[in-house]
Amino acid sequence: MKPKEKKQKPTYNVWQNTVYVMKNAWQTDKPMVIRMMVVIIASVAASLVQLYLPKTVVQLVTDQVTITELAIYIAVFSVVLGLFEALKIRHEMLQQLPRVGQRLSYCERINNKILQTDFVNLGKSDFEQATQKAQLLVNNNDSPTEAIFACIQTFIISIIGFLVYLLLLTSINPTILALVVCCTVISFFLRRKVNQWIHDNDEIGTKGWNRLGFIYDAGNDASYAKDIRLFALGDWLQDIYHSSRKIIDDFQKQGCTKQFWVDFFDALAAFLREGAAYAYLIWLVLDRGLPVDQFVLLFAAIAGFSNWILSILEQYNTLHKYSLDLCRLREFLDYPDIFNHDGTKIEKADSYTLELRDVSFCYDGTTKNVLEHINLTIHAGEKLAVVGLNGAGKTTLIQLLCGLYDPTEGEVLLNGKNIKQYDRGEYYKLFTAVFQDFSILPISIAENIASAEKEQVDYKRVEECMELADIADKIHSLPEKENSLMVKEVNLDAVSLSGGETQRLMLARALYKNAPILLLDEPTAALDPIAENKMYEHYNNLSKGRTSIYISHRLASTRFCDRIVMIADQKIAEMGTHAELMALGGKYAELFEIQSQYYKENVEEGAENE
Ligand code: ADP
Repeated sequence: MKPKEKKQKPTYNVWQNTVYVMKNAWQTDKPMVIRMMVVIIASVAASLVQLYLPKTVVQLVTDQVTITELAIYIAVFSVVLGLFEALKIRHEMLQQLPRVGQRLSYCERINNKILQTDFVNLGKSDFEQATQKAQLLVNNNDSPTEAIFACIQTFIISIIGFLVYLLLLTSINPTILALVVCCTVISFFLRRKVNQWIHDNDEIGTKGWNRLGFIYDAGNDASYAKDIRLFALGDWLQDIYHSSRKIIDDFQKQGCTKQFWVDFFDALAAFLREGAAYAYLIWLVLDRGLPVDQFVLLFAAIAGFSNWILSILEQYNTLHKYSLDLCRLREFLDYPDIFNHDGTKIEKADSYTLELRDVSFCYDGTTKNVLEHINLTIHAGEKLAVVGLNGAGKTTLIQLLCGLYDPTEGEVLLNGKNIKQYDRGEYYKLFTAVFQDFSILPISIAENIASAEKEQVDYKRVEECMELADIADKIHSLPEKENSLMVKEVNLDAVSLSGGETQRLMLARALYKNAPILLLDEPTAALDPIAENKMYEHYNNLSKGRTSIYISHRLASTRFCDRIVMIADQKIAEMGTHAELMALGGKYAELFEIQSQYYKENVEEGAENE
């Protein structure tokens, strides 16, 4: 038995969620909603024609009309019935694709949420869980976001059917009607209880089946064969097999017994319901002179009436389940974004000065600060290097600077103003970057560099940036040059670039974006030493007209920067030019010596091996 979870009140009720999906459907696909209405009307109408056909036949026979007249009546009824059925089937069929479309529109909303949400949310475990749950609700044709429309449609048909039949049955004794309602409702709830029991105890059966499966696989697995023989595990496995079978048998027996009693009650209820209705109607015919055609009509109406009730309850049950699922989807879509998204623009300036003022930062779900009381001003046009050991907090520092995270304490200032007051999307426009993880899209190289569609790409600028990033020769050697497609998983004829080439491509993309601040997070990590050296030589060109912040754990690679900031023990340990820091003889100098020694030894070793 699963432990009972504490029930939380759903964020939206069935009615609110039904209105929500129907409103979205109306806004995105009106014809689908109109088709739903047509199916509803045609279904109720077809059911009424079916109800009146036998009554009319009996009436005509009683009135002793000619065979031709009878045949005409039956033909007319059949044609009308056929028309309604055809209308129903056609519009039901035409709804299939639009319903898939509705599901895909929720897929799109989920994707949009993931793409647009604050970066900080992506690292939160509850956001990740909410994403996974939401994605489960849009992944196949049985998903609630698609199946709910059929459910709403049948639910409305049942309600209208119920009301119409109730109107027809007003002449009937209310006690008989109450009996019909009671028997149907009790049958429904008993069946639901058994299904719930099977669902709740499903784990017991699954446990048995899993164990059986494991023993069966182990028997067939050669790697188990030796141990089974040497350790005499055979009998023991057989015992587990038998005990697992017993678990499954007991579970199924219990389920069958419960099912039997429900079926038995169902039959009893049907007997009671129909017996009482029959007896009552026969009494009406014999005692009150109810015409036979009325008898036929009312009898069929009573059976139909109980079917409508059953259908209402079943559909409501399903709708309730879908509604709970939709709550999860909507909770995900409503997941709060904390950054400012109100569109507040940043005042245009000739230069931008960035400042971290007493900034401390702790990642969500952790307790230790990664950075503590950082004070750092970065002037316009400056070439700043951030160095430190792996895990020192260098990436975190630039992510705070560019607004991907907000400090836990302290503030980030742009030209003296806290960046929180600006629209975060606007703030991101100030930055361009090469991060450690690459994000290549399945489009052409030029489109990747420009981060834009083909028509908007400035090919001259693409060329310049490829030259600056030292990737132009490679791209020119490709058959389709900068129009070559990327990502083999999507484009079969896509080109493959090495890690170093991809990193240079990312650099070209960063240079293409005309932003005043350039962030480079270990941009040479995937480059060979020659390419790396070339990049240092051209660094002035790369960062021309921009403020640049260059992260590296290799101290030798930062000598060309104006200022070096060394992060250690969550703080700025040292700050200055390469010469100043070497003269200081502190952590930087120590690390620099160790690293140069290591690289020298590696080079010598490499030379000896050659
Ligand atoms: P560096 O760039 O100097 O190698 P980072 O800034 O990437 O260091 O990481 C600093 C510390 O923060 C590391 O201990 C790392 O494990 C931790 N860290 C990085 N990202 C996260 C995250 N999303 N959640 C929790 N801890 C993180």
